[in-house]
Amino acid sequence: MIPFNKPYLTGKEAHYMYDAVYTGKLSGNGKFTKKCQHFFESNYGFRKCLLTTSCTDALEMAAILADIQPGDEVIMPSYTFVSTSNAFVLRGAHIRFADSRKDHPGIDEDSIESLITQKTKAIVPVHYAGVGCDMEKIMSIANKHNLLVIEDAAQAIDSYFTFSDGTKKALGSIGHLAAFSFHETKNIISGEGGLLAINDDRFSKRAEIIWEKGTNRSAFFRGEVDKYGWVDIGSSFLPSETIAAFLWAQLENLENIQEKRIAIWDQYYSGLKEWAENRNVRLPFVPHFATNNAHMFYLVCESVEQRTEIIERLKSKSVSAVFHYLSLHKSPFYQSKHDGRELSMSDFYSECLVRLPMYYELTEDNIDLIIGNITR
Ligand SMILES: *Cc1c(COP(=O)(O)O)cnc(C)c1O
Repeated sequence: MIPFNKPYLTGKEAHYMYDAVYTGKLSGNGKFTKKCQHFFESNYGFRKCLLTTSCTDALEMAAILADIQPGDEVIMPSYTFVSTSNAFVLRGAHIRFADSRKDHPGIDEDSIESLITQKTKAIVPVHYAGVGCDMEKIMSIANKHNLLVIEDAAQAIDSYFTFSDGTKKALGSIGHLAAFSFHETKNIISGEGGLLAINDDRFSKRAEIIWEKGTNRSAFFRGEVDKYGWVDIGSSFLPSETIAAFLWAQLENLENIQEKRIAIWDQYYSGLKEWAENRNVRLPFVPHFATNNAHMFYLVCESVEQRTEIIERLKSKSVSAVFHYLSLHKSPFYQSKHDGRELSMSDFYSECLVRLPMYYELTEDNIDLIIGNITR
């Protein structure tokens, strides 16, 4: 049996969690939370980081920080996870769904500008498979129209974007705000978990307040105010120390995890390249401005029939390959709210994209078996 995903443990998780438990600091914002936040700030150039209980929560914080009001519009791809959209819908936003690129499931950057109206507040690019969107184009559109950019970087840890002047920046460090996930299906995990990166200083203070249930508790602990109280809306967005302790064990091994995942990805790519070319099946595409963090290995089939056939064939060999998002503009919840535009690439990826097993402990033999069953 080869599952689609298997959470990888570095071996130190329980040790650090034990430490968190027995030092008696169990709630959030303790030693391990600070270590993790510092790690992200110093390694990836995120201005300020706050751990959250999920990427969903980080996106909800971002929607509050962006001051989304009922009737405001937010632009994002239709081919994404529900949380990208829900976070803004919860604040009353109307979503203007964009189509995906022809060569990649990420947002079609060239379609964004035509979706902007007087009511548009933010653009939310999703770095699908950890491969960056054209952030240079998106930031320039946003600056021109005075919009916020919130990166859904759930899958994009340790991945980069190169600007036309050669500057290379980590995904999640470019938009005003960015959200990452440490759900057990991502590269670096803590069971459930996430991170909000705040790259625009205007939002730093308020982010901390929203994170701490709408109080200025963090400022109080730093001695900046002599009592703390209710100063804004907020919620319980911070994870307990045991979660942060688990995450710390993963971060200590980030390089090793990434190396292994990239080796797996490369084996898939070289083993399937010739077969795919002969069949008009597409392998993952990485644009010249992006890097590959090996979050995912997928095939884009020619038709839904071909995809079903591959999924069934692998299933008969106990290999679990799975399709991905269903276009959000056609979802039972949003269909009637969508403006009726056809988003044909999004629908195409909904029907034809299939993801292959991808996890640290996948062996070379496992991958050979999977490739053999696809190409036979
Ligand atoms: C995983 C994922 C999320 C949600 O992350 P959680 O941590 O499970 O809340 C959001 N957006 C995208 C693109 C994802 O892949």
